[in-house]
Amino acid sequence: MPAYDLVIRKAKTKEYQDRLVDIAVSEGKIAYVGTSIEGKGEEELDAEGKLVSPAFVDAHLHMCKVYTYLMIGEEALRHYHEGGMGTSELAILLASKIKEKYNESWIYDNAKRAALEAISYGTLYIRAFVDTDTKAKLEGIKALLRLKEELKDKITIQVVAFPQDGIARDPGAEEYVRKAIELGADVVGGIPWIELTSEDEDTHIEKMFEIAKEYNRDVAMLTDDTGDPGLRTTEKLAKKAIKEKWIGRVTANHARAASMYTAPYLTKLAQLLKLADMSLVTDPHTGPLHIPVKFFLSQGVNVALGQDDIADAYYPYGNNNMLEIAFLNSHILWMTTLKDMETLFDMITYNAAKAMGIKSYGIKVGAKADLLVLNARSIYEAIWRHEKPVAVIKSGNRIS
Ligand SMILES: [Zn+2]
Repeated sequence: MPAYDLVIRKAKTKEYQDRLVDIAVSEGKIAYVGTSIEGKGEEELDAEGKLVSPAFVDAHLHMCKVYTYLMIGEEALRHYHEGGMGTSELAILLASKIKEKYNESWIYDNAKRAALEAISYGTLYIRAFVDTDTKAKLEGIKALLRLKEELKDKITIQVVAFPQDGIARDPGAEEYVRKAIELGADVVGGIPWIELTSEDEDTHIEKMFEIAKEYNRDVAMLTDDTGDPGLRTTEKLAKKAIKEKWIGRVTANHARAASMYTAPYLTKLAQLLKLADMSLVTDPHTGPLHIPVKFFLSQGVNVALGQDDIADAYYPYGNNNMLEIAFLNSHILWMTTLKDMETLFDMITYNAAKAMGIKSYGIKVGAKADLLVLNARSIYEAIWRHEKPVAVIKSGNRIS
């Protein structure tokens, strides 16, 4: 009789909707999925018909700024949320004041609190955007790289070196991004729309791709995060990804100006995104504008939901509970049918995993055993209640 490290019995899954399955885990990977497994696990877990899901994935979180809302005050937030996002650029300038106080030790403490809360909610993958510029220097990067290593057996943190205040606008930021990558940051960031001219946007993208190519890193940028339909950096990023053959290695976050684009332009943009196999990560709960999610999904573009912020200058709430994110956006996007809920669930699991470039993910033989037993019997109930999982499993080990 085969022996496994762990067997989860009587699991309901999105992947096998017609029957309850047993899931066996060996050496951190799923070894078997099917009905009535033969053999036993060293640890046995009876899911009692509850939903078992792959771990949740948060493809966009400003992790160096978590829990700074009360430290920075409300002025930036007001500029980000009011007036149709016409002054979101000003919000970023105001919010950057916090960086005068940037220090590795408190950033580490805050980020750790956020990571531990993420784990308790089953969010085991986070793409952490960390300000890397002449104000923040490498304080956030050092904190997040330390945390990433410390918690690597519990949560996978990808560190993005993110020049929040621009490259042309913040001379010296480029060198900090390069240093961050040399220290071990996983992903090259960017925010081309913050630059003052179209030429500077191009230079911004160009310089960040130079680093990405030199160090063979994926790219994740914030594009067009304001109420200006004239902004086109999502398109510029897709064109660059195609030109450099960085296919499937680039994400655009926010891209909120797409809410104001004409239908013919949106259709072209969707085609470009598909050619680049570029993912969109959207966070409609953190600002009044958002990409037309259903449109991009209907065109076959990969769209994920991110937490974006936890109690910072841009958004006052957040728990790293991705089911809560699905719940909030079910309302904002009016995605309330059972089919819509499955899509929302994909946007915090499979779509987000694709955006982060996570390999061997899901409930299938050979995939990493990063699994959740949810306190729900259906996706509907899981999103409705957005409760903590009853079991959180990382690489086959129960961690929460
Ligand atoms: Zn963001």
